[in-house]
Formats: sequence, structure tokens, C-alpha cells
Amino acid sequence: MAGKKMITETKAKIIEIKEEAKEIRTFTLQLEKKIDYNPGEFIFVWFPEQPEIKRAYSIAGYSKDNLMKLTIQKVEEGKFTTELFNAKKGKEIIVKGSFGSMKYEGEKKIVMLAAGTGIAPFMGFMDYFKTMKCPEKAYLFYSFKHPNKKVDLTEHLKGIKCMEIILTCPKAGKECIQWNGLKEYIDAKVMKRFIPNLNEFTFFLCGSHKLVEEVTNTLIEEGIPEEKIKHEKF
Ligand SMILES: Cc1cc2nc3c(=O)[nH]c(=O)nc-3n(C[C@H](O)[C@H](O)[C@H](O)COP(=O)(O)OP(=O)(O)OC[C@H]3O[C@@H](n4cnc5c(N)ncnc54)[C@H](O)[C@@H]3O)c2cc1C
Repeated sequence: MAGKKMITETKAKIIEIKEEAKEIRTFTLQLEKKIDYNPGEFIFVWFPEQPEIKRAYSIAGYSKDNLMKLTIQKVEEGKFTTELFNAKKGKEIIVKGSFGSMKYEGEKKIVMLAAGTGIAPFMGFMDYFKTMKCPEKAYLFYSFKHPNKKVDLTEHLKGIKCMEIILTCPKAGKECIQWNGLKEYIDAKVMKRFIPNLNEFTFFLCGSHKLVEEVTNTLIEEGIPEEKIKHEKF
């Protein structure tokens, strides 16, 4: 995983579109050229006819046969996602990457925290754990605003023995009423209830700026060194 980072720009085609949850889809792209990928990284994409509308997306899976998955939420009046959600199979798209600092580098004990589409890079982690190597222990806290916005991870988790998943729907309003599981916002104190030896872990946080900053602060208060906290903010 070490060595000089290569950035590649390549043509790609959308070859599959999967409905994951309400207004969340996974797009499978067949890339022409290979890219240099570590779990946790992101790429830029744009349509060749609209090069001015470039957007960043976490890589939710990248296979040896050069298929890349992106898990994307439709944004109301969003310039790129409106085009993308209207696109059909076969549509050409340009991919450039990969980039990012939330790389998985073989750490043995990890905690992942995903909010909303912040789950995307961790779908990439799961693919990697399945096809390459599972860490000694991995926890995933996955927070969503409504049960119908939750990506079903069952298929992704098949065959992965090292992972525990904690799902939470923390919104106080009617959105989470039908959710019978955990309803708390995640911070270091909540994590400690599930993982007593928190200081042995490396943390990967992906979600809004606010979430990443708040959770990072609570981890630092618990004595976790900053260099053991990696993140990607959307
Ligand atoms: C590193 C990184 C990784 C990411 N990974 C993912 C991922 O895996 N999955 C995912 O779904 N997203 C991801 N994102 C977010 C993604 O890059 C886009 O920001 C998102 O998809 C919205 O793009 P859009 O063009 O559809 O919306 P935009 O057109 O950029 O609009 C975004 C918001 O701004 C509002 N807006 C737009 N123009 C104006 C205006 N002129 N005045 C006022 N408001 C305006 C829109 O109504 C909308 O609410 C990631 C972002 C980053 C930085």
C-alpha cells in the first residue's frame, strides 16, 4: 500500500445502477484505465459534456477487473446528482483519482463512524476486508436520519468475521419513530460502552464537518492521540 501515489484520469461507463435506499443509489462504473486505490479514498467525476461540474465521491468498492462503485445520495436541485440520477446504463463519465487522507493502511484495530452517505468509503473497506484481509477487530457505527435512508449492508458483510456493526437513528423527530434500535448520537462516550479498550484503536470518521469535528473533540478528550483519528468531511 506504500509508495508514490499515482493520479489517473480515465474514461468510464456506468454499467449498473442499484437502488440502495430512498434517493441513494450505487453506480458501478467500468473504468478504462486502472487507478491507484486505497480503501477510504475518493475520486472526482464529471460528465464529458459538462466538465465544469466536477464532484468528489468516496470509492465504495474497486475490484481487480476495474469496476468502481460509488454510493450517492440525490441532492435536491443538486447540479451533478440530478444529471446522474437521470443517466442510464452506458452513459460515459470521467473519473480522476484517487485522493484523500482517510486511507486504510492495514491498522489492526479500527473503529469506523459513518453518518448518512458517509457509509460509502466503509463499503469499500468491507470489500477490501472480504477480498484481501480482515483487521484483528473492526467496529462500524452507522448513523442515519431515517430507516428508509439506511443502506442495507447484509451482502457487504457476508463472510466478514472481524466486524461488529452498531446502527443508530438518532433524530428526535418522527423520522426515527419506527426504529427500535439505538437512537443516540455517537461520541467517544457511547463508543466506550461498546469498546472498553478504546485507546487501542484507530478511528475513521466520515460525515458532515460538524459531526467529524464534534466526535474528534470527544475522542481527544478521552485521550486518543490526534494522529490516530482519520476523517473525510462531506
Ligand atoms: C471528499 C468528498 C467525498 C464525498 N463523497 C460522497 C459520497 O460518497 N456520496 C455522496 O452522496 N456525496 C459525497 N460527497 C458530496 C458530493 O461531492 C456532492 O457535494 C453532492 O453529491 C452534491 O452535488 P450536486 O452537484 O448534486 O449538488 P450541488 O449543485 O453542488 O448543490 C449542493 C447544495 O447546494 C445548493 N445550491 C447549489 N447551488 C446553489 C446556489 N447558487 N445558491 C444556493 N444554494 C445552492 C443545492 O440546492 C444543494 O442543496 C463527497 C464530498 C466530498 C468533499
